[in-house]
Amino acid sequence: MSYLLLDPADFAGKAIDGFAAAHPRHVSRIEGGVMRRAALPPGQVGVVVGGGSGHYPAFAGLVGRGMASAAVCGNIFASPSAGQVVRVGSAVERGAGLLLTFGNYAGDVLHFSLGAERLRRRGIDVRIVTVTDDIASAPADHPELRRGIAGGLAVYKVAGAAAEAGLALDEVERLTQKANAHTRTLGVAFSGCTLPGASNPLFEVPDGRMAIGMGLHGEPGLSEGPLTDADTLATMLLDRLLPERPADIPADRQRVVVLLNGLGTFKYEELFVLFAAVSQQLQQAGVVMADCECGELVTSLDMAGVSLTLFWVDEELEGFWNAAADSAAYRRGSFTSSLPATSAEQPDGRQAELDTTFEPSALTPSQRTLLARIEAVEEALNTHAEELGRLDAIAGDGDHGLGMVRGIRGARESASRAMERGCGIGDVLMEAGEAWSDHGGGTSGALWGGALLAAGQALAEAPAPEATDIAAAFEAALEAVMQLGHAVPGDKTMVDALQPFSVQLQARLRAGADLQQALQEAASAALTAAQSTADLLPKLGRARTHGHRSLGHPDPGAMSLAHCLVAATREPT
Ligand code: ADP
Ligand code: MG
Repeated sequence: MSYLLLDPADFAGKAIDGFAAAHPRHVSRIEGGVMRRAALPPGQVGVVVGGGSGHYPAFAGLVGRGMASAAVCGNIFASPSAGQVVRVGSAVERGAGLLLTFGNYAGDVLHFSLGAERLRRRGIDVRIVTVTDDIASAPADHPELRRGIAGGLAVYKVAGAAAEAGLALDEVERLTQKANAHTRTLGVAFSGCTLPGASNPLFEVPDGRMAIGMGLHGEPGLSEGPLTDADTLATMLLDRLLPERPADIPADRQRVVVLLNGLGTFKYEELFVLFAAVSQQLQQAGVVMADCECGELVTSLDMAGVSLTLFWVDEELEGFWNAAADSAAYRRGSFTSSLPATSAEQPDGRQAELDTTFEPSALTPSQRTLLARIEAVEEALNTHAEELGRLDAIAGDGDHGLGMVRGIRGARESASRAMERGCGIGDVLMEAGEAWSDHGGGTSGALWGGALLAAGQALAEAPAPEATDIAAAFEAALEAVMQLGHAVPGDKTMVDALQPFSVQLQARLRAGADLQQALQEAASAALTAAQSTADLLPKLGRARTHGHRSLGHPDPGAMSLAHCLVAATREPT
């Protein structure tokens, strides 16, 4: 819980402002997060970490020389937006590319991937390594499904040290992947946590019990058990962690960096008691402790809990782990060369873009048609916003109508500006997509952004698009949504409207229909399909956990997409 009277809406932003003010030697506040204060030399790979707030010292506390170059900071427990990733990434790009590394959570993966795509469009080489250390979240043969928790420190440390050593992006990426593949964590929680300003906990652990493997946000773990003493808890954690020794670490040379992490309100003294048991048992198991950290590394607001990480090191990884680092929350060694401190650079020239005024008279006839179609979509979304919000409230969080209205408004404004600059349809759609994901927010905002970006990319290669190019652009949009969100038809998402649209459009064109007619028939197929999602159970997204409630009601994202398609494909007047 929090003790100050505060506005939950701006709490995370104010906390980052204050963090930057408290650590002027280490970080500068930039739009979307913080960047390191020590100048990043030209030719050095930028290492960008990030995720939701509420996990300090992750992520802002890990920014500094020899550590992360910058952190993208989302709201409490919420992924930052793709726009934030772009702004923060641009601020630390020095011609050698960027490595984005963060915990493996659906929202973070979505927004960081989309941000990476946009940075690549600017000619920047961008790689992504997701942290997957939590062994409770998926079996060992599916590491890609595991989420990231306290072991992130080892991964970010190695990435930062590799970049600081001047290694090329390929090498930084390889070492970061290797660090992640050598890191395993298991945690237990004794209490839930309460969002700032809220009066009830977000989730709870029954009194006198502990939740084994519970995630940072209350995600269910492996099991629940009674409280135990330090020796028993250490045994329980190590019994599960030690068998997961990476294949390339030989039994006779087991060296680990041990990270014992408090999750927010687990006292340091209690951590030390547990640490003593852990280190003794490791020794008995023949495992050498190469180094250790015992304290708060990744927290979960005021959750009482603890996690144990084993970072299995070989000579190469140990070297990067031991390299000098200087961030607000993690320091070791010292640097031999000193760098001048610099003030933060403001990321990009977007403000200049925003300041230009729009003159409709400059539009060509085809631009006018496109703008009219976009305006028709905006009108449809305004009309249906309330109904979409009600649908989303049944099994989701009720924000879908508002998110769509914000998204289309941003997209329309950005498309207008792009047209005024003389951009072709491909670029217009790409800019509209960027704006949609910045303004729309939520899962749907990111997916709409990705869809428009992909459609725009497809059309950028066809300056005078014909019917088949338009069909290909819709297919590219569908592929982008499925790739970003991992949904397949039948999962009760927007895919269930977009896929029938794309299939029907191609079928009608093949049958010889003209483009306008084919578009309208495909849109009406999409509307029917969206309405039929009422019979489906959601398998993805927020609605998944309360899926049964949504039976009998169509999916809000599928309905909004169908309304958009119907409006966009109406005969332009
Ligand atoms: P949030 O769920 O983040 O609040 P919205 O409420 O704006 O986002 O959008 C919810 C809609 O997003 C859902 O109805 C569904 O159509 C769509 N959606 C959610 N997750 C996915 C996914 N993984 N793939 C495709 N569509 C998704
Ligand atoms: Mg929602």
